Amino acid sequence: MTKYIGAHVSASGGVGNAILNAEAIGANAFALFTRNQRSWVSKPLAQLEIDGFKALLVERGFRPEMVLPHDSYLINLGSPDEETLQKSRAAFFDEMYRAQQLGLTMLNFHPGSHLNRISEEECLDQIAREINLALSKTEGVTAVIENTAGQGTNLGWRFEHIARIIEGVDDKSRVGVCIDTCHTLAAGYDLSTEMGYQFCFDDFERIVGLKYLRAIHLNDSKKGAGSHVDRHEVLGEGFLGKAFFERFMNDSRFDDMPIILETPDPMRWADEIKWLRSL
Ligand SMILES: [Zn+2]
Ligand SMILES: [Zn+2]
Repeated sequence: MTKYIGAHVSASGGVGNAILNAEAIGANAFALFTRNQRSWVSKPLAQLEIDGFKALLVERGFRPEMVLPHDSYLINLGSPDEETLQKSRAAFFDEMYRAQQLGLTMLNFHPGSHLNRISEEECLDQIAREINLALSKTEGVTAVIENTAGQGTNLGWRFEHIARIIEGVDDKSRVGVCIDTCHTLAAGYDLSTEMGYQFCFDDFERIVGLKYLRAIHLNDSKKGAGSHVDRHEVLGEGFLGKAFFERFMNDSRFDDMPIILETPDPMRWADEIKWLRSL
C-alpha cells in the first residue's frame, strides 16, 4: 500500500519552489498556495512559470494528483454580503483555473461562513451553486471541500454540512472532501480512541461517503475534542496522540491520496514524515 505524505510548503519565489521544498523534506505529496493567500487579486501565472512547474514536477517524480493547492483564506463562497460574494466568486474561479493551468487535479477550500445573517441551509446551498459555477468554467479540477473546526460561523464542521453541499453540486465526479484531522477532533469526533476513530469514519461513510474522500490534512490538535478551536499541533504532541497516527498509517482507506501536514514547525516536517513512515 502506498501512502503519499507531504506538507503545505512555501511557494515563495514561484510555484516551482514548492516542488523543491517538498523534495527537501522527503515528501511524495505536497500542498501550496498558487497565489498570495491574503490578497483578493494576483497577477496571472506566466506561461514560463507554468511550463517550468510541470516539467519540474515530472523531473522530481511527483504525481500531479498528489499535489493539493489550497485556496485563499479571504474567499467565502457562503457570504451573505453581495460584494464579498462577487470577490469570492472571481477569486475562487481564479484558484480553480490556476490549478488547471498547472496540470493539477484538485483545489482544496474551506466551505464558507454564514456570519449569522443567513441560515445554515441557505449558506450551504449558495456554496453548492458557487461550486457549480466554477466547475462549469474550468476543466479537470475537482473542488475539494475541507471540513472545519466550526470556529465562529464557519460551516463544514458537521459531515451533514458537507453532504448537503455535495447534494447541490451537479457534477458529482468533480466534488470531493479533504478531512483535516485537527478540525475533525475540534468539531467533536474524539479520534484519539479506537472507538472514536471507528465511529468517526463510519459516520463519514454513512453521511458523506468515503468515495468522496480525496485528501487528508494530517495535524495534531492543541485543543481537545469538541473545542471548536482550530489550533494545529506537532504530530503526537497534541490531543490526537501517537496511537491515532499509528492507526491512521495502517488504515488502507487513506492510501493513494495526498496526506498533508500543516503542523506548526516546518523544521520538523522531515522528521514527522519519517516517523509516520516508520509506523
Ligand atoms: Zn485549510
Ligand atoms: Zn487543513
